[in-house]
Amino acid sequence: MARRTAVALVLTCEHGGARVPARWKAPLAGQEALLASHRGYDAGALATARVLSRELDAPLCAATVTRLLVDLNRSAHNPARFSRFTRDLPAPQRARLHTELWAPHRAAVEAMVAQAQTQAQTQAQTQAGPRAVLHVAVHSFTPVLDDDVRDYDVGLLYDPGRAWERGLATAWTRALARCEGVDGVRRNAPYRGVSDGLTRGLRGLHADRAYAGIELELNQRRLAARGDRFEPALVRAVVGTLRALLDPGPAG
Ligand SMILES: [Zn+2]
Repeated sequence: MARRTAVALVLTCEHGGARVPARWKAPLAGQEALLASHRGYDAGALATARVLSRELDAPLCAATVTRLLVDLNRSAHNPARFSRFTRDLPAPQRARLHTELWAPHRAAVEAMVAQAQTQAQTQAQTQAGPRAVLHVAVHSFTPVLDDDVRDYDVGLLYDPGRAWERGLATAWTRALARCEGVDGVRRNAPYRGVSDGLTRGLRGLHADRAYAGIELELNQRRLAARGDRFEPALVRAVVGTLRALLDPGPAG
């Protein structure tokens, strides 16, 4: 049975943990409370990414080092990738943070996307469809940031200027909004999909129809009691809608 598309899914998680490697303890000494907060990592994101990887049989590149050292969801030229604890470190130390922590994740993600594109291309040849990779970067956000109250469960961040990506994000938004376990879905909220970040960097390397990069943002108000994973109903909705998005059924 012919599919409309041969879409390969890849997953990433840039803010999966608050780990501090031994050699970088000094700049974050005494910051345990901050490390455990939404400033240190995205609670629930890693567990969600792992469920998606397992359920949808998709590769995952996940990082567990705290964003307070260097933010893997910023580009290499963005000085804001360093936090207030690391931006005033001597230049050689910042360069080391870049080469030890930032660069390996970016390289691994780029390699994963390239490999998935090769697979999608092979599938496309047998199924007479286009080759394409959907990259979903899994993140979470705090329900209240300063004066900004985020009263929706899910945000999908994408570039409205890329037609295929926009279509996927729109379809995914509609599907999620219909799910019983989901209270509110917003597009390009709480952040804009075109802001500096990993998906924007990858868009610069790939044409619209070959690559779509969507950031999945989940509201931490839906974290389960233990706090390191989201409520099962929300995760099930994300898994089910993403599965349907990847496999829209036979061509009509
Ligand atoms: Zn994040």
